[in-house]
Amino acid sequence: MKISEILGRGKISVSCEVFPPKKDSDMESVQRAVAEIVGMKPAFLSVTYGAGGGTSRHTIRIASDVQHMGVPALAHLTCVSSTKQEIESRLRELRDSGIENILALRGDIPPGQEFPAPQQYHYAYELVRQIRAFGGFCIGAACYPDGHVECEHKEDDIDYLRQKVECGCDFLTTQMFFDNDVFYNFMYRVLAKGIHVPVVAGIMPVTSSRMIKRACALSGMMLPPSLKAIVDKFGDRPQAMKQAGIAYATEQIVDLISNGVTAVHIYTMNKPDVAGSIMRNLSDIVG
Ligand code: FAD
Repeated sequence: MKISEILGRGKISVSCEVFPPKKDSDMESVQRAVAEIVGMKPAFLSVTYGAGGGTSRHTIRIASDVQHMGVPALAHLTCVSSTKQEIESRLRELRDSGIENILALRGDIPPGQEFPAPQQYHYAYELVRQIRAFGGFCIGAACYPDGHVECEHKEDDIDYLRQKVECGCDFLTTQMFFDNDVFYNFMYRVLAKGIHVPVVAGIMPVTSSRMIKRACALSGMMLPPSLKAIVDKFGDRPQAMKQAGIAYATEQIVDLISNGVTAVHIYTMNKPDVAGSIMRNLSDIVG
């Protein structure tokens, strides 16, 4: 099923995300985690794409398994440093595997690498355009309530976002954010620019202080004081940090839904216990 159809119903939808293994030998444990998360009946399950495409076949395989288990899959696809021919063959593979939904991404430029050569992709809008021309897929893309780390001005970021949407996006998914006011402010600016596709709010349950510190360093994100206090207080007690992180994410989601947001995406990583706790916390709210 196409994700645009799910989002178009206007009902509350909660989707989840998994990532493929880096090593073939870890495939089985990832498949077990995926099956458990699928069992929680998310609205759809997205499968990330290793930077540089190193795990691309795993992404397609896991996404195809998810579809066969009866949950719509969203396969991520990055394009930076790829040629048009390489992307064309990925699209054929995705179509032949029964995948209907693609999250079209640029991907991060590897540290120390030059900006891509002219014959390679530079930005996600070029990928969106190619997928639209290929036909048959529902296309999502990324957006950044805090602004993308490379973009100096949030206004420019939203102008580029509009360009990307105009190339053929059916929906957007946000980067994780920890302060809902940042999301509400972003939505105000997005609508003011005439971007009207559905925006799925991305929520990351913070279950490890090491992980969140790394994510902040990479993305330039700041933690709001209330979450920083949680990380400072419980960061060296893993079980307490997990419980507090799940409670914080649940509170964020309840606030979003209370304020009219209908689509929430949980960055569950490959943690069925975290996904399960949040789904249980929301069972009567989403049901
Ligand atoms: P773009 O939309 O191309 O934007 C990148 C930067 O270029 C922004 O600063 C933008 O303002 C600027 N820009 C855009 N168009 C132009 C233009 N025409 N001229 C000048 N500047 C321009 N990475 C992975 O490797 N694998 C994944 O599976 C993955 N999944 C993700 C899922 C989500 C929901 C999100 C939010 C991010 C994900 N990422 C993933 C990370 C993503 O690849 C990086 O954030 C990357 O740096 C930007 O990708 P993009 O598609 O947003 O790029």
